[in-house]
Amino acid sequence: MRVEILGCSGGIGGNGMRTTSLLVDGDILIDAGTGVGDLSLQRLAAIDHVFITHAHLDHIACLPLMIDSVGDMRSTPLTMHATPETLEIIRKHIFNWHIWPDFSVIPTPEQAFLRFATIEPGQTVRIGQRSITPLPAAHTVPAVGYHLRNDVSGASLAFTGDTSTCPPLWSALNQIGQLRHLIIEAAFANGERELALLSKHLCPSLLLDELQQLQSRPEVWVTHAKPGQLQQIADEIAAGSGPHRPRMLESGSILEC
Ligand SMILES: [Zn+2]
Ligand SMILES: [Zn+2]
Repeated sequence: MRVEILGCSGGIGGNGMRTTSLLVDGDILIDAGTGVGDLSLQRLAAIDHVFITHAHLDHIACLPLMIDSVGDMRSTPLTMHATPETLEIIRKHIFNWHIWPDFSVIPTPEQAFLRFATIEPGQTVRIGQRSITPLPAAHTVPAVGYHLRNDVSGASLAFTGDTSTCPPLWSALNQIGQLRHLIIEAAFANGERELALLSKHLCPSLLLDELQQLQSRPEVWVTHAKPGQLQQIADEIAAGSGPHRPRMLESGSILEC
């Protein structure tokens, strides 16, 4: 399983800053932030599944655009997977004919470009030899993270999505055998710890505290830094790194498991 980081910034602003999106083996997308905009038409058309963590714009910005761009190049619908709560928000506020057409009935309801599928925390979706299971998260809107497992090697990658402190997340992570990579967010620098808590994100000190609950030793990657605070966040992560030694995730990098 090859996970390509298309975007891992909390915002935009040049210098490789693109919002959250991970491409798994070329056919599964985890979130559809602005990183998706760099893919060629052919690579966009090869994506069969999109798993959404939550409805915030930095995680879905390219979803409506990619469907419109490649819908007619595909013979099967793109399947968007999300929890019922997130699905309802996206249907009501994005694919509502005002912001964007409802591609789940275009060009015809029988052969639409987009198909909606609901997922539930803890319930695994199997696609080829990959298993995708939603993980608990605690954010300002309904949210999940994802556990991606290579069913051949048994190795896993976990992605928290946007979350604040979340004890059930750590219980779930501690059940994963062969956790090779953990991607976890730190949206703000320590100076904005209160704002991080209020907006249900993490900052380096909160992240390092949370990591103490992790019993395994994956590579830990930090994502979603606010663009103007990137260096500060990187410095604070490095200064307090602890036994898990988290590193900043970079767009364009490939994680294998
Ligand atoms: Zn969010
Ligand atoms: Zn976000």
